[in-house]
Amino acid sequence: MPRTGSIAGPVAALINEFSKLPTVGPKTAARLVFHLLNRPRHEAQALAEAILNVKDQVRFCSICYSLTEADPCDLCSDPDRDGATICVVAEAKDVYAIERTGAFKGRYHVLGGLISPMDGIGPAQLRVKELVERIGRESPREIILATNPNAEGEATALYLSRLLQPLGVMVTRLAYGLPIGGDLDYADEITLAKALEGRTAL
Ligand SMILES: [Zn+2]
Repeated sequence: MPRTGSIAGPVAALINEFSKLPTVGPKTAARLVFHLLNRPRHEAQALAEAILNVKDQVRFCSICYSLTEADPCDLCSDPDRDGATICVVAEAKDVYAIERTGAFKGRYHVLGGLISPMDGIGPAQLRVKELVERIGRESPREIILATNPNAEGEATALYLSRLLQPLGVMVTRLAYGLPIGGDLDYADEITLAKALEGRTAL
């Protein structure tokens, strides 16, 4: 077995792994690897363990599909939160964005994306069936559609409002004031809190 690759092998392998991450090109990947080579072993171990812990310990909440270590998540199991209002968002990161405003005390439902025919994502690829089942089970008073104010977010809100209104639940949409074409996650807390406050019935 030739040993010529014994140094280059692991370095090349780690550069290759980092290169698969979003926004990380081969140059950045190489910088990260050479940085790690200069750091003590325990730092590399902490990084490796943190990555594995995310995969092993974080899962989807079986009620709201947000990310959690405990199932149900803290938000679903908190008795002080109002179960009569469910805020529907595209991604788990949007739950964090709305929680940062402190303006919402209801519960959440994470769709896992937005309707996007161009990307082959329709309602069947999202947790729409789970939302309808949940409405049947929990009989909430209001569903707030808090999807991004862009084309996919609007299409998803329109689809959901038509689907959910016949179920006898009030369906509202975040008020504008949010930048059109923008991303919920990038809105500042005050803008997002105001949009939540001024939501309109669909
Ligand atoms: Zn939950």
